[in-house]
Amino acid sequence: MSNLSYINDNDGAWQTYLAQIDRVAPYLEHLKEYIDTLKRPKRALIVDVPIVMDDGSIRHFEGYRVQHSLSRGPGKGGIRYHPDVDLNEVMALSAWMTIKTAALNLPFGGAKGGIRVDPRSLSLRELERLTRRYTSEISHIIGPQKDIPAPDVGTNPHVMGWIMDTYSSGQGHTVTGVVTGKPVHLGGSLGRIKATGRGVFITGQQVAQKIQLPLKDAKVAVQGFGNVGSEAAYLFVQAQAKIVAIQDHTGTIYNPEGMNVDALKLHLEQHQGVAGFTDAKAISNDEFWTVEMDIFIPAALEGQITAERAQNLTAKLVLEGANGPTYPQADDILTQRGVTVVPDVICNAGGVTVSYFEWVQDMASFFWSEEEINQRLDALMIKAIHDVWQTAEEKVCSLRTAAYILACERILRARKERGIFPG
Ligand code: GLU
Repeated sequence: MSNLSYINDNDGAWQTYLAQIDRVAPYLEHLKEYIDTLKRPKRALIVDVPIVMDDGSIRHFEGYRVQHSLSRGPGKGGIRYHPDVDLNEVMALSAWMTIKTAALNLPFGGAKGGIRVDPRSLSLRELERLTRRYTSEISHIIGPQKDIPAPDVGTNPHVMGWIMDTYSSGQGHTVTGVVTGKPVHLGGSLGRIKATGRGVFITGQQVAQKIQLPLKDAKVAVQGFGNVGSEAAYLFVQAQAKIVAIQDHTGTIYNPEGMNVDALKLHLEQHQGVAGFTDAKAISNDEFWTVEMDIFIPAALEGQITAERAQNLTAKLVLEGANGPTYPQADDILTQRGVTVVPDVICNAGGVTVSYFEWVQDMASFFWSEEEINQRLDALMIKAIHDVWQTAEEKVCSLRTAAYILACERILRARKERGIFPG
């Protein structure tokens, strides 16, 4: 139950998040009077985004920016352009950012934004107008010390460049630190684009070792082959694993022997997605969930692993590249079946970690080499996953609950030590 008048008790991502908080609450007895802080966003802004389309007509889009928690520092989190974006989803995504930044001990709170739009249906000029108008509508609540957006599903460095430029125009000077994931020559960081996929691989590699799952010849299945899924999959192939199945918005392909990655890259350069790739056979979207695999990487949207799919999944290890891909009931089934799940708030935190490095570099106007960035990223992620693993062993709980224990302890301690204004 949400106890919030503006949110329905439907089966959305926010309800998944609340169920996760319910699972961690028994471990936070000493901070229990602050738990409700986690169950409501600090601030939620809904904006109308009208734009003039290329044909001269005017269209209105619904935009959001939710700041779930600012207790540990400025808000941090991406901006999603997708036709299914709504308040429920953006609230959940913002809350997962709060948990994620705290799990990695980055000095940020959690926020998220989005526009309910199919970006593929807009021209480049329309996309630019949409981004600039949305930025202008949320500009009073973002800023390098307030809330720092970044890319998410449907947005990219190009879009971040427009956000930086629009915000800067309003301020009268260039403010690179207002957004991360920018193009490198606009104050972006080397290594940022590949960082999320890299983090999925690094945390996956560590946990595979712990559960004694050899990567050599391991069968990897990936859902979503964008920035995150593709980079993680390629790194697994470098570690001698095989990509056996991929599902994206164009279809599902399967090759139990492992796909030829060079041919796959070539295919993706020339096509919209994996459909039609000749080194694999097309299978139905339902079949994808039952193929033989060792490692499963959901790297698309939330709410993909249902109870039924969890029951049939053959993977031993699930690496959550996406935010919120697993329903709470499915999570319990996977745990009961002995499937190890590396939760999103750790697994896909490589992106926000390099976003943090980008913000630090922008503040200092001093930029690091890609090697230095990757070294620091690997070190932070390895420490985070080891701390989570150890906590899970001590408390005899899932890696998700362990990550939440560590993160919520940090968030609620900050809340407690700051006190409730006006006291
Ligand atoms: N959208 C990414 C995420 O969900 C990155 C956020 C960021 O870099 O601030 O973690």
